[in-house]
Amino acid sequence: MLYSIRMRSAKGGAHEYGGHHISGAERLITKQDLQKITETLIKRALNHEKGRADFIRLTIEEVKPKDIITIPMLKMETYNAIDVNDGHKNACDFLANAGISKMAIDNAMSSLLSLKENMRGAILIDVTTGKRLDNTGMRGIRVSRMDFKDTLQAKKHFDELGYTDNHVQEALVLASKVLSAPNVIGELCWSDDPNYIIGYVSANNIYHRITKMKPLHSSQGGRVFFVKTPVDITALQNYLERQPVLVDINL
Ligand code: AMP
Repeated sequence: MLYSIRMRSAKGGAHEYGGHHISGAERLITKQDLQKITETLIKRALNHEKGRADFIRLTIEEVKPKDIITIPMLKMETYNAIDVNDGHKNACDFLANAGISKMAIDNAMSSLLSLKENMRGAILIDVTTGKRLDNTGMRGIRVSRMDFKDTLQAKKHFDELGYTDNHVQEALVLASKVLSAPNVIGELCWSDDPNYIIGYVSANNIYHRITKMKPLHSSQGGRVFFVKTPVDITALQNYLERQPVLVDINL
């Protein structure tokens, strides 16, 4: 049996009462790992570079094995950007190569750059018109219930590549799930962690890790998912938020 464990934390009260988002996490783990991971997630919320959370919500739910699907991991390629402008230019090119319109790319970039407050989740944008498709406001769509199929194997794989921190691993799991969703063509992301300036675009089965996507010390980050219409938004939201998914690095 696996368990979905989800954490969200904020400072200044709960998110829904105006607190600022500090950090979040979602894992799909065994019973033996529950205690250890719960402790790690609480530590993450209390020792975050964005500040010490004063609101932490942990949700733990059993997941039925028959409900879980397994998907392949996206291939990773790194683009070494000269500066943030170069990073953004290449991010736009990767998205355009996936058939996403200039209007949609421009709207996505300006939506993320104009965020006054970090969202908990992602914005859905129409690949053609560039219009926002979800109506979740500042909450956004929060992708959840996903993990590596074999966490130890994945950790070994990324350690060997030199990616020892959590960012790439967690983002690759999320991005693989997002691109596996029907009608999702691409994703644009950079972190809200002030010291983590690397971001990514995923499209055409590739996770393009881009080394400079925001200035150092900026705590502004976000995510956009590009969606082909017509689409059943409720079904898409349901897949992203509720479908349990394991990512197999061998597929
Ligand atoms: P992070 O990479 O964790 O720094 O997150 C960067 C931004 O991505 C956050 O500010 C959120 O807007 C968004 N985000 C983080 N986690 C998720 C998630 N599980 N699902 C959707 N969007 C997320």
